[in-house]
Amino acid sequence: MMLDFDRSDTPATVATELADTPFAAANAPGAVFAKMGLASEIARAIARAGYTEPTAVQARAVPQALTGADLLVSSQTGSGKTAAFVWPALQRILDARHDPAKRRAKGQTFGPRVLVLTPTRELAMQVSKASSTYGYGVAGLRVAHVVGGVPYHAQLKSLRGPLDILIATPGRLMDLMNSGAAILANVELLVLDEADRMLDMGFLPDIRRVLRHLPPKRQTLFFSATMPPPIAQLAREMLTNPATINLERQSTAAVGITQAVYPVAQELKSTLFLAILNRGDMNQALVFTRTKHRANRLCEFLVKRGVNADRIHGNRSQAQRTAALAAFKEGRCRVLVATDIAARGIDVEALGHVVNFDVPLVPADYIHRIGRTGRADLTGDAFTFVAREEEGDITAIEKVLGKRLPRVTVPDFDYNARPEAKLEIPLGERIAAIRAKKADDRSRSNAKQGGRGGGGGGGGSRSASGGGSRGGSFSGGGGRPTGSGGRRFGGPRSGR
Ligand code: AMP
Repeated sequence: MMLDFDRSDTPATVATELADTPFAAANAPGAVFAKMGLASEIARAIARAGYTEPTAVQARAVPQALTGADLLVSSQTGSGKTAAFVWPALQRILDARHDPAKRRAKGQTFGPRVLVLTPTRELAMQVSKASSTYGYGVAGLRVAHVVGGVPYHAQLKSLRGPLDILIATPGRLMDLMNSGAAILANVELLVLDEADRMLDMGFLPDIRRVLRHLPPKRQTLFFSATMPPPIAQLAREMLTNPATINLERQSTAAVGITQAVYPVAQELKSTLFLAILNRGDMNQALVFTRTKHRANRLCEFLVKRGVNADRIHGNRSQAQRTAALAAFKEGRCRVLVATDIAARGIDVEALGHVVNFDVPLVPADYIHRIGRTGRADLTGDAFTFVAREEEGDITAIEKVLGKRLPRVTVPDFDYNARPEAKLEIPLGERIAAIRAKKADDRSRSNAKQGGRGGGGGGGGSRSASGGGSRGGSFSGGGGRPTGSGGRRFGGPRSGR
């Protein structure tokens, strides 16, 4: 169901609850947010969400956005940036409610006043939820999100009638525009969230196409953690005299996070992780693996050993992902294993630990992953397991961070143990096995033919391994696991 917040079913008491108390009092809940220029309905809903003061990005971006100016904001995930655009968006909707010229006839389809583009389904849902939370006091607020990977039907339904906020991933929005279901003629405010992520995911052409359908007279808020050249170019194209807000140095990690590197042989990573869990230092953890396959195998490994674990990645359906995420957020699931793409936009408040089971190949992914912990100034830990063959990747990350991370070893963990099972059969080994089997089949069929031909001698004597060696590049060491050297990896190098 895409329409996830329709305040038409809100009891009138909500508005009363949010509007009754004298708001001018400096110590009234939410007064600090009202001072930023937000209406009392919004300020109180923010206070109701438990916030007592704005984060740095909110303090700087919200008052500027409320003037109607375009904004270019460089801000890390976890800094409170979602609220930094949702609050001004809600203010715009409230203002429109009080403006007779902008009143909409009941029962008619109007496109949204606010359009938010996000790179992932998860992020879209998070923005949608934030809109509902902060829009608690905005009577009749209608928010919809349209994202890829789920059926069209419910999304089409959610686009009917007057909409206030539409949150969309660019690909699905394009489809719905092409079929005439999404109307963008009424957009007054466009938000681009995590623009650099959209670039990574190949959404740039879709974004440009969407832009062509938007009214040129509008406000645009542009958020991106980093500003690679194509993103800077897009910002120049999209924004008019933007106010620039650059809160953090590019590609730095959020503060409040303790980062550490755990050197360990590739094949011992799962047992090391289990050992850390069993020590009881880690209540819940979001764990990143490089591939879907590894996410599955790690999850299986943990579940077999009694750990409540689940996984999210591109091969899981949206329903499975949503269920896993909900269980994790509610604390029913202790370990959530994820691949990068699936984990984008995950927001788990006060998440204590992020574990990089595999070192991310790109430093920006590291920053994003660890941004999942220590959000909004809370503290968290980010552990990275580094096998010998991943040393180069962690060095590249350390360069971006501008510091060497401490190397940590787990006391009493046997770094020389024989692994219980490999998480993944290395590609070279898999190919060698396939070739050996094919060679074996061939030699059998040769032997048969030789037998029929009454001679030809020796055809049947070709062994599977002989067949393998015919493959040239896969002979000998080619089939060996690339990480095999790490098995003898001596583990501890230095303590914390
Ligand atoms: P974001 O950067 O939008 O992904 O937000 C990161 C986290 O900060 C979310 O869990 C928000 O609920 C939380 N948050 C947003 N604004 C505030 C605030 N003013 N005070 C405390 N937490 C906040």
